[in-house]
Amino acid sequence: MTDDRRQVLPKPVPLDPPARILEDWDEFNAAVHAAKDATHRFHPGPQNLDHGIVEEMVTAALAVAGVFTPPPALASLDPECCTALCLPYDAEQFDAEMFGVWQQCGEDPGHDGDHEGDVGWADGLPGTMPARPVGDRAGRH
Ligand SMILES: [Zn+2]
Repeated sequence: MTDDRRQVLPKPVPLDPPARILEDWDEFNAAVHAAKDATHRFHPGPQNLDHGIVEEMVTAALAVAGVFTPPPALASLDPECCTALCLPYDAEQFDAEMFGVWQQCGEDPGHDGDHEGDVGWADGLPGTMPARPVGDRAGRH
């Protein structure tokens, strides 16, 4: 877990309950630790699952239960593109590759109209975040 992921961000538009987006990374990290502890109960010893693999497993498992990770930090986004984000949260609409994985708009920063990437969306929909000014990129900790 890098400090980048702890960066304070504006909140995304909430999902329709009971689905929800985690408020911060602490709950997610607790779930990752619980998953690792459970693994160790079945396979005690020095072998460890890769932390990144456990994070992916927990992300996928939580998403199926309607609980999604917080949006990625501004610093981790592609600096060449619009910073608007969209969470594909409908399991019937998205395949496993995209479901529960935040998507960044692929258009130029400051573009007009709706956001486009592997999915298209408009600001204000549940699970979206509008583009943030590049000046925010310095981050707030
Ligand atoms: Zn955009």
